[in-house]
Amino acid sequence: MKTHILWDIDGTLIHNSRDGTTVYLDAFTRVTGAPPRRRITNPHGMTEGQLLAKLLELNGHPSTMLDDLLNELDGRTRAQHDSGFVREAVAGGPQALRRVSSRGWTNSLLTGNGPQHSRYKLLAAGYSIDDFNWQSSFFGDRSPDRHHLTSLVAPLLGEGTNVIIGDTPNDGLAADSAALPFIAVATGAYSVADLRGTNALLVVDNLETGIDDLLGTIAELTQRG
Ligand SMILES: [Mg+2]
Repeated sequence: MKTHILWDIDGTLIHNSRDGTTVYLDAFTRVTGAPPRRRITNPHGMTEGQLLAKLLELNGHPSTMLDDLLNELDGRTRAQHDSGFVREAVAGGPQALRRVSSRGWTNSLLTGNGPQHSRYKLLAAGYSIDDFNWQSSFFGDRSPDRHHLTSLVAPLLGEGTNVIIGDTPNDGLAADSAALPFIAVATGAYSVADLRGTNALLVVDNLETGIDDLLGTIAELTQRG
């Protein structure tokens, strides 16, 4: 049976970047004609679709602007990438992907980002597009929240072991709602103590020191079937 490891991106495979969030604000300003007067205070664990819909609502704009906003965001992420924008991979991230695939498991994505934004974020942090199976990945640009994303996993991937790895309590709640196992890493905005408050099977400080425990936990899941 197949084993899919569903990686979150921000705070899990790459470090969160303040500069990286300016594309959202710039896209909003371009589409609505003015910068947002009210901002999202805690975007961690939200999908792009959710974040931008909320930003429109908070600032009194119709939800019908969402498509234009997502298109504008795609254009701006491409421009940001072409300008040489660099992101930072977490310690042990690339090695973790290699060790997962060396076990015969599939590296996939389950992220709040859209596919294009995901691609550019990963490339900017030194990952390869070929590190992931994009056909068995889940992207949140059109999802109202992460629960919607996780609800799509079993219908698409079917039987087997599907594990979510993420950095926020929201990732854990979304895993719970689809009865998927969750492993948490504390390289995002939340501490080990915060993440222990979730139903995570395992909480690790980072993918460097935590990799053996992480692989061991997944191996146990695959044996359980
Ligand atoms: Mg994250």
